[in-house]
Amino acid sequence: MDELGVDCLLLSVGADLPWLTGYEAMPLERLTMLVVPREGGATLVVPQLEEPRVEPQPEVFTIRSWNETEDPLELVVRSAGHPRVAAIGDQTWARFVLGLQERWPDTFLRPSSDVIGPLRAVKDAAEIAALQDAAAAVDAVAVAMRDRPFGGRTEVDVRHELAERMLDAGHTRVDFAIVAAGPNGASPHHEAGDRVIGDHDLVVCDFGGSLGGYSSDVTRMYSVGEPTEEVADAYAVLAAAQARAVRAARAGVPAGDVDAAARSIIEDAGFGGRFLHRTGHGIGIETHEPPWIVRGNTVPLEVGNAFSVEPGIYTAGRWGMRLEDIVVVGSAGPQRLNHASRDVAIVD
Ligand code: ZN
Ligand code: ZN
Ligand code: ZN
Repeated sequence: MDELGVDCLLLSVGADLPWLTGYEAMPLERLTMLVVPREGGATLVVPQLEEPRVEPQPEVFTIRSWNETEDPLELVVRSAGHPRVAAIGDQTWARFVLGLQERWPDTFLRPSSDVIGPLRAVKDAAEIAALQDAAAAVDAVAVAMRDRPFGGRTEVDVRHELAERMLDAGHTRVDFAIVAAGPNGASPHHEAGDRVIGDHDLVVCDFGGSLGGYSSDVTRMYSVGEPTEEVADAYAVLAAAQARAVRAARAGVPAGDVDAAARSIIEDAGFGGRFLHRTGHGIGIETHEPPWIVRGNTVPLEVGNAFSVEPGIYTAGRWGMRLEDIVVVGSAGPQRLNHASRDVAIVD
């Protein structure tokens, strides 16, 4: 905050608040807001009925609960004073942002991610251990699915099994479970539907959730029967591209170079136009957070960055494929957190 000239940090819904305090605000119409002035103590303004969920941490913040007839923005203004520059949580409801703007017409508001983003992007040992636990749990699911039948089942049915297995493996929350069979695989974020998985379908399974407060995210491929030569050849290109991008994930390397490492192999094989998205996203409390592994991102990677490496090749109307691992930038080089077999699983 000192470096950026930010007088006050205001955190509401979103991941910055739990990252700093362990408390996650309910996404309600009632305002929860942590007020962190540059000097002095922090105050958590919280609805009275939510207060029992707050674990008091007097060394971190003072709790100021508000009852139904009080104006919570007034309490925020009282705790924050009159900041020249305030950084406000990126996901704060517009209603509250507009209310603060009205009370502080000459205050410059900027996103809290300017302050917190670079801090959250560098994981400490406990955070990496939490990401590792989450990765191990989805790896176990990915491996178990290799022995399960896919043919004759709907995508939704497989999706249900993935979700159940994630919870059984210790996840407290399932965030997504993409099951995309045959031509549906060509849509990277396909919603599982009632398509019955058929013979020779190639199936993308991309799933993740939250375990111990940190996120998992993995993609593995399943094929009902032997894949065609065309699919097998394309997958060899994809796997080589993914491995090369993982090797490129070193401290000091611009994030965009990791994208380029994967993309150049896919382009050289003639599939460039079919790799529709960035190579990856940071991961932590949120599934998607900085650093962004995307062309043009010149921000150098740092030891402690954690992100996905997930190139894909999508052939409209026919098939799609993606391969995704979470990678941590270590002082001795890149470290994969996912270890489930990367071979296409041949399933019934
Ligand atoms: Zn995605
Ligand atoms: Zn994913
Ligand atoms: Zn991902």
